[in-house]
Amino acid sequence: MKNDPKAPLAELRNIYAEVEARALPRQCELRTGCCHFRLTGKTPLLTRVEALLAAKGVRASGRKKLVPRADGACPMLGREGRCGIYAHRPFGCRTHFCAAAGGPYPRQHVADLIHRMEALDEALGWHDGSRPFEAAVADALKDA
Ligand code: SF4
Repeated sequence: MKNDPKAPLAELRNIYAEVEARALPRQCELRTGCCHFRLTGKTPLLTRVEALLAAKGVRASGRKKLVPRADGACPMLGREGRCGIYAHRPFGCRTHFCAAAGGPYPRQHVADLIHRMEALDEALGWHDGSRPFEAAVADALKDA
């Protein structure tokens, strides 16, 4: 079926596993600065298949929708600084680290994986490109 995302979701998990397998030395101390979108002015951009997987994580956490935070941080950031969808978190959250932790992965280190993720959307006939976390996941939750 053209729009059945089961196989693309499995492939996306493979891509995420590959990111972990080629991890660069970084010292994340859960400062959570990278999860404070308003403060950093940066928001993770998700392909549509990534948004579907993140939406699965949101539902697994017991939520049916994203509730925006007054401080502009990611709605899935927990009080103790823990990610509420850690196993389902998007590619950007796996590869973008703050300067204190060592900085984001160089694009050339993961460019092939980004292209593979984009190809998953293309194969499903989705050509809208990557979108900011909250809008992408909110739509994926509605689609589910
Ligand atoms: S999905 Fe998790 S790691 Fe990514 S910005 Fe939100 S809380 Fe942070």
